Amino acid sequence: MEKRNRYNPQPFKPLFPIETMKILVTNDDGIYADGIFFLKEALEKLGEVIVFAPDKERSAVGHALTMHVPLRVSEVFLRDGSRAYMTNGTPSDCVLLAMLMLGKPDLVASGINRGANLGDDITYSGTVSAAMEAAIHGVKAFSISVAAFEDVLYSAGAHVASVIAQKIVENGLPEHTFLNVNVPNINSPKACVITKQGKRIYSDRLTERTDPRGERYFWISGEPSAHAEEGTDIDAVAKGYVSVTPLHLDLTNMDALKTISKWFL
Ligand code: MN
Repeated sequence: MEKRNRYNPQPFKPLFPIETMKILVTNDDGIYADGIFFLKEALEKLGEVIVFAPDKERSAVGHALTMHVPLRVSEVFLRDGSRAYMTNGTPSDCVLLAMLMLGKPDLVASGINRGANLGDDITYSGTVSAAMEAAIHGVKAFSISVAAFEDVLYSAGAHVASVIAQKIVENGLPEHTFLNVNVPNINSPKACVITKQGKRIYSDRLTERTDPRGERYFWISGEPSAHAEEGTDIDAVAKGYVSVTPLHLDLTNMDALKTISKWFL
């Protein structure tokens, strides 16, 4: 077997050019979704963008990591001919893989998601979880979604994404905090408002059917109710504003902590 000449090593390919901001872009709608392309284009003005995304739609996978199948990564080309990384993993896998393979970025942007991520829905969201994964590792991050599934106006979302990214770069973010951004699906959204996470009340429906082999199968569906408390993400988007919610990772209920600790006195 031929020994590699130690004085003639493989050329070192720096994955990010030195002294530019490194921006990792991912999503949960899959690497060929329109939204991620708009996000990549919007952020290219600010730094070096690396796209690292799932090979298929992984919406509503939440914060899942892949544990029981091998992760594959391949280099693919986006519609503008630029290079990107595609994996069979989840959005959170994408953030971890990118950080471990390419080094920590300065900013992670996740989206632009097709469909809002508001209220309790964020706990199911792969888009939001990717930003959360970055925050766990001390990397500044935001997730961005447009509140529509049909005729989605990604260009408005892209403009918002560049504004949010600039604000994060200028001001930084508190520790373990990331931003969840939702853009109404209108051509000229009103100003950005800072909101708190609202409550979405779903009328969940269970549909039961029988497959061609005679086995029962189920389908869970539901529509969120229109009730929106003032000051919430849901309310802001309903009124045509861009909602910006600062989220953090500590799920502890501080009020309940006092009450529950009395149980064991
Ligand atoms: Mn999605």
